[in-house]
Amino acid sequence: MTTARGRRILVSQCVQEVSTFNPVPSGADDFDVRLGDAFTAAQRGRETEVAGALDVLEDAPGVTVVPGFGAWAFSSDGTLSGHGFRTLADGFLGAVRANRDVDGIYCCMHGSMVAADETDPEGSLLEATRAIVGEDLPIVVSLDLHGVLTGRMLRHADAFVAYLTYPHVDLRETGRRAARLLLRILDDGVRPVTARVTIPALVRGDELVTDTGLFGRFTRRAAELETVAGGLAAGMLISNPFTDVPELLTSAFVTTDADPDRATTEALALATGFWEVHEQMRQPLVPLAEAIALARATVGGTVIFTDAADATSSGASGDSNAILRALAEDGYRGMVLAPIVDAPAVEAAIAVGVGGPVRTTIGGRLDRARFTPMPFEGRVHRLSEGRFASEADGLTWSSGPTAVLKGETVTVVATSRPVMLYDRSLFLAHGQDPQAFDAVVVKSPHCEPRFFRDWAARMINVDAPGSTSANLRSLGHVRCPRPIFPLDDDVPFTPRVELYSRARYGVLPLPAEMPV
Ligand SMILES: [Zn+2]
Repeated sequence: MTTARGRRILVSQCVQEVSTFNPVPSGADDFDVRLGDAFTAAQRGRETEVAGALDVLEDAPGVTVVPGFGAWAFSSDGTLSGHGFRTLADGFLGAVRANRDVDGIYCCMHGSMVAADETDPEGSLLEATRAIVGEDLPIVVSLDLHGVLTGRMLRHADAFVAYLTYPHVDLRETGRRAARLLLRILDDGVRPVTARVTIPALVRGDELVTDTGLFGRFTRRAAELETVAGGLAAGMLISNPFTDVPELLTSAFVTTDADPDRATTEALALATGFWEVHEQMRQPLVPLAEAIALARATVGGTVIFTDAADATSSGASGDSNAILRALAEDGYRGMVLAPIVDAPAVEAAIAVGVGGPVRTTIGGRLDRARFTPMPFEGRVHRLSEGRFASEADGLTWSSGPTAVLKGETVTVVATSRPVMLYDRSLFLAHGQDPQAFDAVVVKSPHCEPRFFRDWAARMINVDAPGSTSANLRSLGHVRCPRPIFPLDDDVPFTPRVELYSRARYGVLPLPAEMPV
């Protein structure tokens, strides 16, 4: 027991979710990078994993938080450049080197990063961290349930915790769970052993909504496993289907206190249960023309076009104008609101000022393989610096210089940089209440019901092109293991358990016998 003496815990973060199908590469500039106290101060009290970890650690007697390196990308990211990853890794590992005398490390990651020369950036960071701090220092990592959990990650950390909700409303609680587990390793002497079973399936769709869909069955079971005696962590990581890497698979994992048999049994049960229903976890999509006909037939209230194919939070470029173009071609006369990433359109708006006439194009400047610029004529309604608080997590988001452009029926919130679009922050911060429109383009696969579903007349999942389309076969995966559902037909599943535990816990046979 070490409760009596002080413990110093390094808290660091490296979070990005990449779509390898987004042709626009990302770089270090796409991250909000903060060091030391500036990092923790920006997180404290927010609805984030790091805030949750601080809740627990700063409250624990004798614990001192050592603020490390924080890097968080606003997503909408294509593959990270090699230089960008090296810059981040230097910062992340620099904080580890400067604090190698700590007693434990909590690390907040997403799990779906990809760099030009590294398909497993998180595994690379954890391996390098382990090399610096040695074999015995406890490292606990939190992940998004869309993370890709690799063997390398499992080999170099002591344990993982993952979100248990989708849409994600438990970020802060996930951070608390990770911090509590780290303290249990340090104070109570628990010895984590993790069983992991990979499942050849990439899933999407409404059944993933944990409150109402089939997937919730598995996250609730994972939550139970984590709280019963001997349970330390459990989760279902469905990965980000747009992060095409060699270990892109769904993972069921269960971590127990020195009980590999129990971890094995429960991980197998999660995985085989998931496999039984995985075919139901697909997103039915409505062809564009049909979606517009549905919108026309909707009288009173707002129609939400859910455009998950251009979801900035999943890694898409955010410059799709596919739905606006289809509405224009159809002659739709309702009032439409849409977000779009288009820095030159914003510059054109700034050049003429608020109230000025603007004649430009919108969208189609980034993902040129899928979209083309669309002519737009209207007035500049509003200009801003694009800094606003997110209604989802309270953090300050930055869309860069931003313009509200109003055409005859179409209102576009044009941003210089992508921001998350799973809540209404961008619209509301720019004076645009989605409820005042007949149709709104929402570039996110799912949002918390309070943002749109609770009041919308109709939600339509549109089959539009995009680098994060739920129509997974449209994307062209080349790296992930095959066969895999739904990219291939008749995919076999033979469950196989991998066990991981740090050698110092003495739970498993020597590392030489562990899976590599
Ligand atoms: Zn996620």
